[in-house]
Amino acid sequence: MSKEKKLQCSFCLKENSDVIMIISGAKANICNECIENAVAIIEQELGPNFFKNDEDKKDKKGTKSIKFSLKPIDIKTYLDQYVIGQDEAKKVLSVAIYNHYKRINQKVLNEVEIEKSNIIMIGETGTGKTLMAKTIARLLNVPFAIADATVFTEAGYVGEDVESILSRLLQAADYNVEQAEKGIVFIDEIDKIGRKSDNPSITRDVSGEGVQQALLKLLEGSDVLVPPQGGRKHPDQKMIKINTQNILFICGGAFEGIDKVIAKRIQTSSIGFKNTSEQVQLEKDNLIQYVNALDLRNFGLIPELLGRLPVVTFLKSLDATTLRRILTEPKNALIKQYTQLFEYENIKLHIEPEALDYIVQKAIEFKLGSRGLRSICEILMNDAMYEMPGGNQHEFTITKKYAEERIEKSKYSYLKVA
Ligand code: ADP
Repeated sequence: MSKEKKLQCSFCLKENSDVIMIISGAKANICNECIENAVAIIEQELGPNFFKNDEDKKDKKGTKSIKFSLKPIDIKTYLDQYVIGQDEAKKVLSVAIYNHYKRINQKVLNEVEIEKSNIIMIGETGTGKTLMAKTIARLLNVPFAIADATVFTEAGYVGEDVESILSRLLQAADYNVEQAEKGIVFIDEIDKIGRKSDNPSITRDVSGEGVQQALLKLLEGSDVLVPPQGGRKHPDQKMIKINTQNILFICGGAFEGIDKVIAKRIQTSSIGFKNTSEQVQLEKDNLIQYVNALDLRNFGLIPELLGRLPVVTFLKSLDATTLRRILTEPKNALIKQYTQLFEYENIKLHIEPEALDYIVQKAIEFKLGSRGLRSICEILMNDAMYEMPGGNQHEFTITKKYAEERIEKSKYSYLKVA
């Protein structure tokens, strides 16, 4: 009897005598136990339904298509790993995404055509709008492009054509038109392209209403000719046709002062309703939760455009507790990233809880929000990251005192917003 060929799992190094089965690849082997572990990791990352409905995941050509077997709960669970708080927005977004991809993948039943659920997110800068859109695109493995609405101008004027956003999406899809047509586009600062004047005929409004009209065409779902390299269209350029019917548009904006608009609307509709000062304060802090499309019209967004953005949601401002959690909890949290960077150098990083509180306190004091966390961390770590690699020290502890000294030394406090 010939002896069974000895194989070793390339992951856990067990041999075939230790496990039920080993599968050999071109240059590596894997045992049944490591496969089970890998499945568990993928399900944890991408939701428990990832391996279900395998047929759903392949289109006619056998290429991977959208994982619409994910349920809204799975989408939210995935978002929870990267985005702290913002539960309301996560839920609204999860349902909108679920319906969107269901709409793409389902046949039309009873001639009921489901309309596209483009989304508008309202929230201060740095509250996680881009992060949320980006995370969803990663989960779905679809091309993703970000644009800032303020760079667009009406065709023929200095600035970018609105269509250039589709060029970016096409680039993100490696020029695969079919993939790009299922992608997600995030347009930031949508509040900055409001109509400049109430009477549009008085002056030309090339970066306001003109842009909104151009965007409308994209959002509605139509065939758009796109210059593959982006930039301005010119006559002898080769164009690529992209249909935007199934592209999901997510718009974001700070809509500064929207709380006052909401307050005014609510007050006029409920005079004499709230009376204790505590209740009034509570309402004031949470007004954003009552936002609706009507409020957005006050920022000069035309009704047709708002009509194409039927899902309206909001992101809350980040308080100290949330900022503190952002530092350590997300899957790729800043502190985890620094720990990893030091680990590459064989250095164990410790940050005392008081030092973390101090970082948050400074981010709030300097009015830098979530984006400030990173720059403050850079200041705290920079000297150590410069001096320690290659040295003999294998531990690095950041105490509150150390953090205070670094910030003082950096003169960072000059950045403090008065
Ligand atoms: P916005 O688009 O609302 O201006 P971003 O999504 O670009 O804000 O957020 C800036 C950075 O702040 C992100 O890269 C992320 O690291 C962090 N951040 C903001 N909000 C959150 C959150 N809720 N959870 C985790 N990280 C966040």
